[in-house]
Amino acid sequence: MDMGISGKRALVCASSKGLGRGCAEALAAEGVNLVLNARTEGPLEKTAQELRDKYGVDVVAIAADITSEEGRNKVLAEAADVDILVTNAGGPPPGMWSDWEREDFIKAIDANMLTPIALMKALLPKMIEKGWGRVVNITSQSVKSPIAVLGLSNSARAGLTGYVAGTSRQVAPHGVVINNLLPGIHATDRAASLDQGVADAQGISVEEAAAQRAETLPTRRYGTAEEFGATCAFMCSQYAGNMIGQNVLLDGGAMNSTM
Ligand code: NAP
Repeated sequence: MDMGISGKRALVCASSKGLGRGCAEALAAEGVNLVLNARTEGPLEKTAQELRDKYGVDVVAIAADITSEEGRNKVLAEAADVDILVTNAGGPPPGMWSDWEREDFIKAIDANMLTPIALMKALLPKMIEKGWGRVVNITSQSVKSPIAVLGLSNSARAGLTGYVAGTSRQVAPHGVVINNLLPGIHATDRAASLDQGVADAQGISVEEAAAQRAETLPTRRYGTAEEFGATCAFMCSQYAGNMIGQNVLLDGGAMNSTM
């Protein structure tokens, strides 16, 4: 299926690895030119070169911390005219409600709520002017189905979800489409570090921790960055024009609910 977005330009944040890279790769496969971002230059440049070689698209790589104002300005200087924005950043650490202080919440809200909001505020006006735009925010299953130890993530991402619910309806008349994509467990470095935490706590191997977690899922396996990216590319496509302010859950059926 041709997504109808060949020749468009996308900013994919936090995209040298994992789910962000999956989204970047699926967009590149559709002929979308890219601005990629991550903090560490080496892996970012490697990903950028692999995507150029494999898909023949233009790829600009900007090494910067997207959660800082300075980092965002660096990225936005290159990405001011993009048609597509995929927001992403590292997730907050796990912990216990009684340990989190105001500063911990401020950090999580900055990274996982106020950063995507700042990027949208900067890039939506140009999309509105062009009469076409797509935004996909990578959030988490925790928005629909909280993960107790990820309370910082539950809180910050719920705030972003509320913002998107209203804003997506304000920009929809201009051909600009904003939705959220909610990963459940996917096989990335982030999942490996969460599994390491379980392994350490239970005195088991990281492989055993992953197998134990997979067993709780209806699919009995972790999602892949490739599947995640393909869904993202669809949400950025010409065919997603009637999908407004939705929260698309990719969790292998983990959340048990009728609707
Ligand atoms: P990952 O495999 O650890 O990859 C994270 C990517 O983001 C890397 O390219 C990393 O590169 C970049 N990055 C991290 N912090 C950044 C920052 N401040 N500025 C710019 N780039 C940054 O993580 P992932 O599994 O893809 O997860 C992506 C998001 O989905 C996270 O917010 C995570 O909490 C959420 N999520 C993941 C899962 C899952 O199972 N994987 C489930 C639910 C939610 P550098 O380190 O070089 O910056």
